[in-house]
Amino acid sequence: MSELNLILFGPPGAGKGTQADRLRSDFQLPYIATGDMLRANVKEGTELGQQAKQYMDRGDLVPDELIVAMAAERLGEDDALDGFILDGFPRTTEQAEALDKQLSRMSRRITAVLLIDVPDREVIRRLSGRRVCVKAGHNYHVDFDPPKHDDVCDQDGSRLVQRDDDQPEVIEKRLVVYHDQTEPLVDYYDQQGILRRVDGTRPPAEVHDHIRALIATLRLEEDV
Ligand code: ADP
Ligand code: ADP
Repeated sequence: MSELNLILFGPPGAGKGTQADRLRSDFQLPYIATGDMLRANVKEGTELGQQAKQYMDRGDLVPDELIVAMAAERLGEDDALDGFILDGFPRTTEQAEALDKQLSRMSRRITAVLLIDVPDREVIRRLSGRRVCVKAGHNYHVDFDPPKHDDVCDQDGSRLVQRDDDQPEVIEKRLVVYHDQTEPLVDYYDQQGILRRVDGTRPPAEVHDHIRALIATLRLEEDV
């Protein structure tokens, strides 16, 4: 298989970022997370960041036209030519169609959409205990995946904080938005035959093993 163009899919808090951290070192692929890109824009105070912030704070999706342009630019960069791991994009049918068009213009296609399946009640437990490092966004959980030293990132020593949108009312809103606007993409990708499901309620190492096994199978299928 020449390229691995992967989408990590699932509700907020499913463990996409946690798995991406492991997969990017397994496969040496660039990790493209639209949520991280937007938060960087907010922090830098760019025009995009100023426009996006109001939506993010409420738990709404940022409008498609802003996101599609940002993602298209990033996917066109040289380091993404041999593959990528997308996280948090696409989140609407319009975004998925825009992505398909962009890839087909480059004679490329998505290899697989990995749906990390987690029920709502688990999402709520995960997001309310999530902590992220201020430097690189590494993920921890106060109970399920605590750092070695309280509030300090194991990987880069930076401070751990709670995201503004990981507050109970915003978590609830993000779940509603996921079910309404993003979950329909499960059928969209299933119909294309590229959806693969992973039980996201297992511990992180097991989810990781499952994803690696799925990718190994995809590679075998491609070689046959
Ligand atoms: P997403 O990127 O899908 O929003 P994260 O990777 O940030 O999700 O994970 C959300 C929270 O759940 C984090 O606090 C993370 O430490 C924790 N978490 C991730 N995977 C698991 C898992 N398999 N079991 C328990 N907790 C997990
Ligand atoms: P999570 O880690 O909880 O899955 P993200 O970090 O992916 O959340 O996204 C945080 C917020 O950024 C979303 O609630 C939304 O406001 C905005 N966002 C990120 N990606 C997109 C996208 N593809 N389309 C619209 N809004 C997005």
